Amino acid sequence: MTELHHQTLSELRAGLRARRFSSVELTKHYLARIERFDSQLNAFITVTAESAVRAAEAADRELETSNAPALTGIPLVHKDIFCTDGVLTTCGSKMLSNFIAPYDATVVERLARAGVVTLGKANMDEFAMGSSNETSFYGPVKNPWDLKKVPGGSSGGSAAAVAARLTPAATGTDTGGSIRQPAALTGLTGLKPTYGRVSRYGMIAFASSLDQAGTLTLTAEDAALLMSAMAGFDARDSTSVDVPVPDYLSALDQPLSGLKIGLLKEFFEKGLDEQSAKLVREALSLYERLGAKLIEVSLPNLPLSVPTYYVVAPAECSSNLSRFDGVRFGHRCDNPSDLLDLYRRSRGEGFGPEVKRRIMTGTYVLSAGYYDAYYLRAQKVRRLIADDFARAFSNVDVLMGPTSPTPAFDIGAKVDDPITMYLNDIYTIGANLAGLPAMSIPCGFAGELPVGLQIIGPHFSEAKLLNVAHGYQRETQWHRRIPKGFI
Ligand code: GLN
Repeated sequence: MTELHHQTLSELRAGLRARRFSSVELTKHYLARIERFDSQLNAFITVTAESAVRAAEAADRELETSNAPALTGIPLVHKDIFCTDGVLTTCGSKMLSNFIAPYDATVVERLARAGVVTLGKANMDEFAMGSSNETSFYGPVKNPWDLKKVPGGSSGGSAAAVAARLTPAATGTDTGGSIRQPAALTGLTGLKPTYGRVSRYGMIAFASSLDQAGTLTLTAEDAALLMSAMAGFDARDSTSVDVPVPDYLSALDQPLSGLKIGLLKEFFEKGLDEQSAKLVREALSLYERLGAKLIEVSLPNLPLSVPTYYVVAPAECSSNLSRFDGVRFGHRCDNPSDLLDLYRRSRGEGFGPEVKRRIMTGTYVLSAGYYDAYYLRAQKVRRLIADDFARAFSNVDVLMGPTSPTPAFDIGAKVDDPITMYLNDIYTIGANLAGLPAMSIPCGFAGELPVGLQIIGPHFSEAKLLNVAHGYQRETQWHRRIPKGFI
């Protein structure tokens, strides 16, 4: 039998159902790998070994019956941004380093109902602000392909854990690229769904009009399986959209002949690493061989997406993070002299430098004197970017380009230079500003480092994106490669 951790989630699911192995065996196998390898990676903030084994025992009993839910017995890891009832939920921050969530996020609840066994909570950039996982209070996460490199961020712990096969899949969130960019840098399949497709209830808010939960998996088929459980309307999230959830699995094998692919002209201009460009172009040729048509598309306002995002996201973050005041939950300073001192010191001690920078920027752009010049203006540009995408989708089915300008970079290389760090998201942010679903899939290696191909679709086209990604993965083996030290 193939090693358990070499299998995809769908293969493990089939194995569990055929009773080739039990959920307890599978869960213990992954827990042992976490125990053995995580000291090299720092991908986990919390490992819930005991409750995982108990859940696996229950899953095995359930698997004896004929109506076990779709994901019964499958181990999974949650990004530590999702509230988990009775379990430490830190959001990668000292501010929440003592916070035991009193309820489950909808994503956690739905996946639990579908039968998953939670192995633990993954490290992440503090409050999901970052592109390298270096802003975490719990220390940086290492990239399993090269321990000197970053795994991307902010869902870097989720990505490193899946890439090193310490879990078959993980949840993530994507506000400006935090699922797709780490997926690209660690050789995974990352899906950021349409804004509103997956509930944000119980997901600690960063920038509410951009945040969206999604998946980090080995394959598009695995993402389809998870999405079938996660997606759908939730009355507890006022921005959740009441659109029926299609059958993501049955759409996977549709032929790609006649598919119209728009090549994002702006994504292939200056700034893109040469080897990455070459691999992305090879992936596009493969699509052509599968019968797709390539059409060059220009989105003239797209180059404005980074500055626009770095007004909108900090503005929303400054408002969302005002709830951490040392009074209701989270870190509280010792012996405050009065209320103001309590606020100042609790927030001053609880937040790291990147979060403070965002709060200050956000407060500034929302202040009475500057609101029109920055915030309002950014909202208008956001609309122009969304209109550019809408126009493009009147001609093509999906858009493609690179996910990230370079493969994984060295830990420490960009931490002192926020603007260079922000520019890492240049290809991913547009989809968030427009609320569009987007994926990254592995399309080759620059030396030892994985490179990602990005696929963006119109609103609620997740089934199409998964189909397009699956078509590529049937023809290639990049998604099967395992980092050397973790085989
Ligand atoms: N890297 C971007 C930021 O720092 C995006 C983060 C995210 O998607 N959560 O804001």
